[in-house]
Amino acid sequence: MDAIDQVVLNSRMHYLGMAARTIEPAMKLAVLACMDARVDVAALLGLRPGDAHVVRNAGGRASEEAINALAISQAVLGTREVMVLHHTECAMGRMNEWEIAARIEAATGHPFHEKLDCFVDPIAAIVEDVERLKTSTHLAHRDRIRGFMYDLAKSSLTEIFAAQSAL
Ligand SMILES: [Zn+2]
Repeated sequence: MDAIDQVVLNSRMHYLGMAARTIEPAMKLAVLACMDARVDVAALLGLRPGDAHVVRNAGGRASEEAINALAISQAVLGTREVMVLHHTECAMGRMNEWEIAARIEAATGHPFHEKLDCFVDPIAAIVEDVERLKTSTHLAHRDRIRGFMYDLAKSSLTEIFAAQSAL
């Protein structure tokens, strides 16, 4: 069975457990997290359907695409806070962009020249992402942006950086 068939089956067991919710996240929160399969954002943060936006990419980086999603989240759908969520043992901190590009090229047979947001220092990456969001003119609300590290081994969350308001 394909993995997609499996998750379609899983969806039939999914219990929403609540009445229909509004399209605007109830907690007015957006989370920018790494796509790492071990990071269960909803379970970790106790989020229920309708509570928050979760934007994910490789590394949980504040890329242009992530900022576009957060801009929509704030201006169109009413969120006010952004939580940047990185984690220990992240693949984006273990390989550099040339290694990853080479892997993609080998797997596809096509050149890969897209920008990749690898990092060397995981703490500095969180600070950089919070700063990128704080200074983005596309974000309507930049006074409550905070960065966290999720330690997979300890299953604990530590706040790393909460820059002072950029506004
Ligand atoms: Zn990761």
